[in-house]
Formats: sequence, structure tokens, C-alpha cells
Amino acid sequence: MNDGVLSFDAEFEARIKRDEPMSRHTSWHIGGPADVYFSPRDRADLLAFLASLPPDTPLFWLGLGSNLLVRDGGIRGVVLDTSGLARLERSNDTTITCEAGVPCARLARQCIKWGLAPAEFFAGIPGTLGGALFMNAGAFGGETWPRVRSVDVCDARGVDRRRDAREYSYGYRHIVPPAPGEYFLAASLEFEYRPGITEEGMRQLLARRKETQPIGEWSCGSTFTNPPGDHAARLIDAAGLKGTRIGDIMVSPKHANFLVNVEAATAADVERLVALIQHEVERQSGVKLVPEFRTVGEPL
Ligand SMILES: Cc1cc2nc3c(=O)[nH]c(=O)nc-3n(C[C@H](O)[C@H](O)[C@H](O)COP(=O)(O)OP(=O)(O)OC[C@H]3O[C@@H](n4cnc5c(N)ncnc54)[C@H](O)[C@@H]3O)c2cc1C
Repeated sequence: MNDGVLSFDAEFEARIKRDEPMSRHTSWHIGGPADVYFSPRDRADLLAFLASLPPDTPLFWLGLGSNLLVRDGGIRGVVLDTSGLARLERSNDTTITCEAGVPCARLARQCIKWGLAPAEFFAGIPGTLGGALFMNAGAFGGETWPRVRSVDVCDARGVDRRRDAREYSYGYRHIVPPAPGEYFLAASLEFEYRPGITEEGMRQLLARRKETQPIGEWSCGSTFTNPPGDHAARLIDAAGLKGTRIGDIMVSPKHANFLVNVEAATAADVERLVALIQHEVERQSGVKLVPEFRTVGEPL
């Protein structure tokens, strides 16, 4: 690091982007610039890049940005785009190996082709396997970690290792890793062999969801986790907040737990609307809603 500007080995310097708008990489289409944005070609390239970095380089691992609020001042340090971690293979009758950058929708479709179930729930998660592992994503009654047998992880220096899934504990939309500072490279997932399954069940689940959620609009999916025994959407609706708008961010009239970027919302607008919802719901029902999405970066 020199005068706050990150510098890289020549082979990587030519391939990095500087001041990359993160609004291009989040499903909310919101976010200021990343100092440095790098897309490794594959696992070996990623580990070599990490090994070449000065030890104190701030790192942020990016999947499909579908659970992410990047603040308007952007991200200091390096954003690692994991889309090059794209291998998906069948290891035996019931087990697959999937790299972290594989979109969950691709994982679901491929498992169905291989006759492996239950995997169709992955189609409801519009992120990568890495993002799904990070927060134990789930949909349609299924969730990620019960299928995991082992994960390949690495640290910020690019040193990789395999860990047994039993080293992690997990719950609703969170996990507790055995060590801090590790990132997911790949996972081994186990399913049941059910030859003859088709994509029809998956298509029906997605069609039903489209009737009740603003799919296709710019959002991060569910904004708040469901509090025990209740639904965030019900509480927001009961507080009379459907359709409430700050700048260009609005509580979806279709589903109260979705905040939709109507056109050019800022992260500051989102944070203001989130705070307003939390305040109003707590005032009216006594429940403090907890955001499900992850907030990163600096304010303007
Ligand atoms: C329309 C819509 C519907 C949604 N529906 C659902 C749903 O039904 N269920 C559900 O659970 N979620 C849902 N989501 C939220 C989101 O898709 C999931 O949380 C998903 O798992 C995020 O994955 P991602 O690749 O986009 O992660 P990102 O948003 O890119 O990142 C999220 C976090 O994961 C970390 N991360 C990403 N990759 C790695 C890695 N390889 N190693 C370590 N950390 C990593 C990032 O650093 C970040 O902290 C929805 C989102 C949208 C937009």
C-alpha cells in the first residue's frame, strides 16, 4: 500500500478494475465504488492473488450481491468477485462438489438433471452457493447447511483447507464458523437419489412465489428476518407501512418485507427507511426487526 492506493503484482495489475461502481453488482442496484475489483479466473488464480496481497489489505468477498447493501461511499480495499469459482461436479450417486461462485439456480437445475433431491429449494435463492453458505440461505422449507458434508475454505493469505460440516453450527439465516477470517471456496453436498424427478415442481414453486413477491424488481429479497413465531411482512403491514417511500426506495405494495428501488435510490435512503420501519414496528407491536441483508462500505 502506498499513499492509500493499493498496488499489485504486474500480472494482476492489468486485470483489476479501479473505482468499480458496486451498483452494477448488487440486486438493489445501489452502491458506491469499490477501490479495487478483481475477478479471479478460477480457484488457483484466486489463491495466487490472495498470496500476493500485502497482509493488511481489506478484502470483501462478493457473490451475486443479492443480500447486500453497499453504502454510497463505496468499499475501501479489494472486492473479490467469486464468479470464476464455477465448477459443479457429481462425486458419486448422491454427492456433488460445487464451487462457491455457482449460482444456486444452476445448482438446483443440475441436481434435478442428475436425479438428486431435495435441491429444488435452491432455485428460490438468487445468489451463489458461497452466499448461501455464509448465511444458511433457505427457501420453500429447505435450507443450505443440512445438505453440506464438507467445505473447502481459505484464509486471507490464500491458504486453503477442508473442514467437516460438523465443525459449523447453524440456525435460521446464520452460521457459526469454527474460526474467523475464512472464506468458502467449495462445498460437498449430499442429496437423495430420486431418478425421474423433473423441473416441473421447481417451476410451480417459483410461479407461486411470483404471485406474492415483487420478483424482478430491484430488491434484496426479504429485508428483515422473521421474528420467532411471527412474520416481518405481517408486522410491517400491520404498522400501515406498505407503500411508504423515502427518495426512490419503497416498501413494496405487493409484499411488505421487500424494499424496492424504484429508480435511483441511495443506500442512505435505504438506511433511513429501514430505521423508520424498525421504529414504527417496535412502537406499535414491541418487536425489534433485525435486517437480514448485510451492510458494507462507507457512507458518503
Ligand atoms: C428477489 C430475492 C429473493 C430472495 N429470496 C431469498 C430466499 O428465499 N431465501 C434466502 O435465504 N435468501 C433470499 N434472498 C437473499 C439472497 O439471495 C441470499 O442471502 C443469498 O444467499 C446471497 O447470496 P449472494 O451470492 O448474492 O451473496 P452476496 O449478497 O454477494 O453476499 C452476501 C454475504 O455473503 C458473503 N459471501 C459471499 N460469497 C462468499 C464466500 N464464497 N465466502 C464467504 N463469504 C461469502 C459476502 O461477503 C456477504 O457478506 C433473496 C434475494 C432476492 C434479491
